[in-house]
Amino acid sequence: MKRSFEFDTLFSDIEQRLEERKDSIKPIKFKVCSECKQKKPIFKFSVNKRNLEGRTNICKECRSREYLRYYYQNRERILIKCKEYRDTDKGNRSAYSENYRKDNRERLKKKAGEWYKKNRKAIKKRNLKYYQENKEACLAIRELWREKNKEGIKKYNREYKRKQRIKNKN
Ligand SMILES: [Zn+2]
Repeated sequence: MKRSFEFDTLFSDIEQRLEERKDSIKPIKFKVCSECKQKKPIFKFSVNKRNLEGRTNICKECRSREYLRYYYQNRERILIKCKEYRDTDKGNRSAYSENYRKDNRERLKKKAGEWYKKNRKAIKKRNLKYYQENKEACLAIRELWREKNKEGIKKYNREYKRKQRIKNKN
C-alpha cells in the first residue's frame, strides 16, 4: 500500500521544518509560484528533489488549498486508505527501517524538544495566528493525523489512564 503523495506532503516531518528554518536564516531566495503567480521566499515552497531548484513550482499555500479541495471531495476514500495503510503496511516494514526510524525519531525528538523549549512563547503565538488564518486546513490535518495514529492514541490514552489510577491509589 503506497501512501498518497499529498498525505506525505502535509505531514512533512520535523526534519524538513528544521531544514527550512536554516533556509530562513540564510539570505532569502525568491521564487514565483506557478499557480498564484506571486513572488515568495523560497521556504514557502516545499522541498522536491526531482525539481531543478529543489523546490516545488507551486507554493505551499496553493498546494494546501489544492489538497484541501481534493481532500473534501475524496474524504471518505482517503480516510479508508489511511485505515488500510495502518492495518497492512506496519507488518511489512523490515526490522532495519523500523530501527532506523526509531533511532532517527529519538534524535529528532531531542533536537526539536530543545528548540521548542527555547522558542516556546513565540511558537505558541505563531501557531495561534496560523490556526486562526487556516482553521479549515488545520482541522483537516488534525483529522487525518488522528486517523493515521489511531492505534498509538488509543495506547497512549490507556497508558495515561493506567498511570492516573496508580497515582490516585497512592
Ligand atoms: Zn501560490
